[in-house]
Amino acid sequence: MEIIPVVPRGYCQGVVRAIQIARDTAKSNPDTPITMLGMIVHNRYVVDACSVLGIRCLEDPMKTRLELLDKVNEGIVIFTAHGVSDSVKEKAQKKGLKIVDATCPDVMKTHQLVLEHCKTGGDVVYIGKLHHPEAEGVVSLNEQIHLVSDEADVCSLSPSLTNVLITCQTTLSMLSMKRLLVLCTERFPDARIAPEVCNATAVRQQAVMNLKNIDVLIVVGDPHSNNSNQLQNIALNVGIPHAWLIEGTWELKENMIKGYDRIAVTSGSSTPTAITSQVIDFLKQYADDGIWCPPETLSVPVI
Ligand code: SF4
Repeated sequence: MEIIPVVPRGYCQGVVRAIQIARDTAKSNPDTPITMLGMIVHNRYVVDACSVLGIRCLEDPMKTRLELLDKVNEGIVIFTAHGVSDSVKEKAQKKGLKIVDATCPDVMKTHQLVLEHCKTGGDVVYIGKLHHPEAEGVVSLNEQIHLVSDEADVCSLSPSLTNVLITCQTTLSMLSMKRLLVLCTERFPDARIAPEVCNATAVRQQAVMNLKNIDVLIVVGDPHSNNSNQLQNIALNVGIPHAWLIEGTWELKENMIKGYDRIAVTSGSSTPTAITSQVIDFLKQYADDGIWCPPETLSVPVI
């Protein structure tokens, strides 16, 4: 059995930056209540590690960032790597909160792109995931921005949209983004196209697409992590027979890999390096000695 770590994988610059900002904020403000507006990145072990530093995480998938702010009444609020709209910033300012913005520069670039286009009076068709915080942050910027998450959304776009810009969420699957992009351009053939899948997402997905003769791909990542889910989907789409998304070694099962020759391992850009390394080390050990005894819990610090 051969274990093949996929390169590149794991943490991207935007995630490293967001975690560093959270750590610095906690260190510099030991006596101030600090709240993260949502998961700083989509990995619960990173969120747990932040809570050990004294940072409270407010997360409710049924609530928008604007609604979550109702529960923050003092201290510092950290905006996550996914970004927020101006209305969230204004509300936080009105409440007298100190803002720490950990929005990824790539997401900010998308914000600037769509806002500049809106200033021209044009409409924006934004391909993104419904209820994802990044998509929520972009779509809330201006009512001229229209979210499409699937084919039905594309069909329901008003034909009266003018001067259309088509763009997308940074962490989408390149394959599914291209499929929706084709449908959008059929609806608006004169539209300007600006794909915004970030480089970190693109190179991690491309590395999976480039794999040859792989029997199983193990993706290490949180089930809420969009880019981890996309890595699994892409693997299945490009013909890798088996692709599993696991949070860590403790979710590995022997039947996922037993009897297969070539096992590749990758991880989403929000997955701590230590967790992925633990998975790779365990698989290499199993490949060497065939003994199955995965640890039941996380045994390494993640930030
Ligand atoms: S995946 Fe891309 S957009 Fe998201 S934090 Fe990383 S670099 Fe930024």
